Amino acid sequence: MRDGGAVSLPSVLSFDLDDTLWPIGPVIEAAESELWAWLCERHPRAAAAHSIESMRALRAAAAARFPERGHDMTFLRLHSLAQMLVAAGYEASAAERAFEVFYAARNRVSCYADVRPALARLGGRRPLYALSNGNASLERCGIAAFFAGHVSAQSVGAAKPDPRMFAALAARAGVAPAEILHVGDDPYADVDGARRAGAQAVWINRDGRSWPAELEPPARTITSLEEIA
Ligand SMILES: [Mg+2]
Repeated sequence: MRDGGAVSLPSVLSFDLDDTLWPIGPVIEAAESELWAWLCERHPRAAAAHSIESMRALRAAAAARFPERGHDMTFLRLHSLAQMLVAAGYEASAAERAFEVFYAARNRVSCYADVRPALARLGGRRPLYALSNGNASLERCGIAAFFAGHVSAQSVGAAKPDPRMFAALAARAGVAPAEILHVGDDPYADVDGARRAGAQAVWINRDGRSWPAELEPPARTITSLEEIA
């Protein structure tokens, strides 16, 4: 626990997933390509009316239409897939098979080299939690054994930087927010979100990005998980 400005040793560590433990851009690109190839083969009429870009636009439209589900990547993808399949005369249930093609590829991630050794070391000392806005599966990504739990935007009904995410993590771990040290790549969602919720935050800046001028600078910045003592 902390009082005043003193930094206390955290009793729980939490980690963002995408772009913190693995690079997500190439994974989503590959997953969208696999899904696209599958649609072209199995549901060619739907593919003929679309492109990968227009499918992204459908998802954005779904997020605008259902703002209360905007944090739920699985819902948005399933909804927009069903929409395009039904419009081409296919069963809406085909969306679930299409989603599974995407989801299997979306979880085929390659952790940064520092991640597994650091999680193994840190997990021996304190419980580790995943705190993510995306819909990755710890089991499918092959890292579930490192973690005591996973709090996702989908399970909370809100996305970081919403303080409900950090409150849900604190409740799940049975600690006060100030006892949590959260590590993430996003200045707004991870660092500012954590400190607004009363948690401690570390910014992981793996690729030399600059910190947004309008935000108070992070208390701690690292470039690899090895730096967490
Ligand atoms: Mg991230």
